[in-house]
Amino acid sequence: MDFAFTPKQVALQQWVRQIAEEKIAPIAEEADESPTVHAGLMAILANEGLLKYCVPEEYGGVGVRVMDLCIIREELARVSCQADTNFIMQGLGSYPITLGGTDEQKAKYLPPIARGESIAAFALTEPHAGSDVISMKTEAKLDGDDWVLNGQKKFISQAGDASTYTVFAQTEPGQGSRGISVFVVEAGTPGFDDSKRMDLMAAHPTGEPKWVDCHVPQANLLGERGRGLRLAMGTLDTFRTTVAAAAIGMAQAAYEASIEYAKNRQMFGQNLSDFQATQFKLADMAVSLDAARLLAQRAAWLKDSGQESVIKEASFAKLFGTEAATRIIHEAVQIHGGAGLERGNRVERLYREVRALTIYEGTSEIQRETIARQILKD
Ligand SMILES: Cc1cc2nc3c(=O)[nH]c(=O)nc-3n(C[C@H](O)[C@H](O)[C@H](O)COP(=O)(O)OP(=O)(O)OC[C@H]3O[C@@H](n4cnc5c(N)ncnc54)[C@H](O)[C@@H]3O)c2cc1C
Repeated sequence: MDFAFTPKQVALQQWVRQIAEEKIAPIAEEADESPTVHAGLMAILANEGLLKYCVPEEYGGVGVRVMDLCIIREELARVSCQADTNFIMQGLGSYPITLGGTDEQKAKYLPPIARGESIAAFALTEPHAGSDVISMKTEAKLDGDDWVLNGQKKFISQAGDASTYTVFAQTEPGQGSRGISVFVVEAGTPGFDDSKRMDLMAAHPTGEPKWVDCHVPQANLLGERGRGLRLAMGTLDTFRTTVAAAAIGMAQAAYEASIEYAKNRQMFGQNLSDFQATQFKLADMAVSLDAARLLAQRAAWLKDSGQESVIKEASFAKLFGTEAATRIIHEAVQIHGGAGLERGNRVERLYREVRALTIYEGTSEIQRETIARQILKD
């Protein structure tokens, strides 16, 4: 196993860091507090060509590699949570098309996503079906040449701003994991309403799209009928590790802010960083960051090297990375004292933003369940 970055990966990291620091940082606070996709931020991601990393080479991208996605997510999330979300949703939202689409479907939908002309969304979760996705209620029934969709989703990132939705629905109710199919639904299709937005503790653009007798052509079915859950799991298996990378980027920002603050905050005739209690906090942060990075890089490397299943390694990375980041950012607020609670302070925003990461794309409890299943099987 070789975790050393290739020269191409080192160059990618330097390039994204420069974009993040020079172009995104000046608008990061405003963008991160926006409950809708921030047009200026999306334009930077598109114009710089970053969105191409979410799409295969043959369809206007540069290819989807987990290590590249991790490098990009860490650098973006270090500066702006919204930049990270906008970036990765182009990949997550379109990956069922990449995995299961026909050449025609890929040629139609993927190039505009790589160019940022079309925003993608991944619509799986419902009000009564989160971790237990199989219990989803959204249904699609064949009516002549059309599929007719009825149902509602919840917590769908970028809903309301997106134009290309991959939507999971029951086509064979009662068939469990073999009864779900996935469709591409374009915004503006009659019977599709994506106007309802959600208001979360950190301004992550999310919505509750719904479908009432919404007709989509048969050509919008992705992959085999009844095998949509395989596309969902294939997508999450690829992207789960990258959530850890985003968490690491956020924790890295909190760690850097804590060192800076501790070195400059004067008290009792010395600096905050002179106290052993502070030094131990910083040491624990540094070790957790390193461990989280190594777990994420291992899972990414294994996936990119073609290992058939990285379920266990991706869950290790997601579980440890997101929980470590939550702890690191919690301690960063503590080091900042009252200043860490002030709106406008970087660690205050991170404290709100990091909370979602142990919940989305499989909660920590689901990761532990997955890991336990794998180790008991071994
Ligand atoms: C910011 C944000 C963005 C999101 N974006 C998207 C998106 O773009 N597309 C999408 O489809 N979804 C999205 N989601 C939804 C997300 O994937 C779900 O919130 C997540 O899967 C959990 O589902 P739930 O919220 O319904 O919680 P529930 O599944 O109801 O879980 C509630 C609690 O029960 C626990 N639990 C569940 N099962 C078990 C078990 N077997 N044993 C013990 N405890 C258990 C959970 O871990 C959790 O603590 C997003 C969520 C957030 C917060």
